Amino acid sequence: MNKRHYIIPIFVSHRGCPHDCIFCNQKKITGQGGDVRGEDVKNKIEEYLQTIPKENVIVELAFYGGSFTAIPMDQQQELLEAVQPYIAQGAIQHIRISTRPDCIDTEVIELLKAYKVQIVELGVQSMDEEVLRISNRGHSDQDVRNSVALLKQYGFTVGVQVMVGLPGDSEQKSIATVKSLIELMPDIARIYPALVITNTYMEQLYYRDEYKPMSLDAAVEICKKLLILFEKNHIEVIRIGLQPTENILEGKEVVAGPFHSSMRQLVVSSIYRDMLEYMLKDEEEIKQLEILVNPRDISDLLGQKRNNIEAIKTHKKIETVTVIQSKDLAMQSIVLKYSEIVRNMSIKDFRNILEI
Ligand code: SF4
Repeated sequence: MNKRHYIIPIFVSHRGCPHDCIFCNQKKITGQGGDVRGEDVKNKIEEYLQTIPKENVIVELAFYGGSFTAIPMDQQQELLEAVQPYIAQGAIQHIRISTRPDCIDTEVIELLKAYKVQIVELGVQSMDEEVLRISNRGHSDQDVRNSVALLKQYGFTVGVQVMVGLPGDSEQKSIATVKSLIELMPDIARIYPALVITNTYMEQLYYRDEYKPMSLDAAVEICKKLLILFEKNHIEVIRIGLQPTENILEGKEVVAGPFHSSMRQLVVSSIYRDMLEYMLKDEEEIKQLEILVNPRDISDLLGQKRNNIEAIKTHKKIETVTVIQSKDLAMQSIVLKYSEIVRNMSIKDFRNILEI
């Protein structure tokens, strides 16, 4: 039986970070402020463990936000120390941290190893020097190369976080960023479209008309290309788009930009739409089309408000499109039946023929 994965999130807000990236107001994004202490970590773990089943589970403690390894060593130690009894009891299996690429060195690595941290995610954002400079990131692309290499040498699972649509960025630069990262062979990735958040420098740029965020459609298009590139190279993309907090959902934090609470679904649906177009590209006269799909993929295939189906129907002038759910079909693949023709394709096959 597959084990269920649970995450205990601990938000380490702006604490320790000497930088001021133009898109960041860490306290606002995480929805929590203030300093986190060992005691808070312990309390949060106890609270979560009460709701997590004891059998067949993988429990991960994730220190999100901030720049974990930029915190003074004794404070990192205090936070990690608080998790150790739970690791020893087997109640928690993994610790994950996220940090800046220029805050990784052998001293930090030795500490993370000693406290059984397994996953380190790096806020890369871009590998383009100009985008990094305009965003006031304060690190270089070389810092990313060095930190990924060092973390891999010590056997960590390495994650990279990429942000698209920052000032000075372009689709070409985002693609180049991902191609450079693929060369470093990280294990996992996250893709975030840049958003204008309250109380950030980017908010000022936006109100002065000096920054124009991407539209949602443009963000979906670029995220789709990056997702395909990562997955084609066997790098799992574990998230696309910002995790919606209560404040974000209530519209209190995002001033402008391509926020959508189901960003990944929009992106995957868009891949299905392209795949349908590709599979039917040489067909001109289809009266009736049947599409078979695994029930777990049905929403991705249909798209929001069934717009994938409506789009293919209109574009190819098809009279009837029937979608049939088939548990026998592998996930992320579809079968098309029309005019006595049967064709199938998976997203994996499709992405392998795409040139990006
Ligand atoms: S390094 Fe991270 S926490 Fe610090 S300002 Fe930049 S994005 Fe925010």
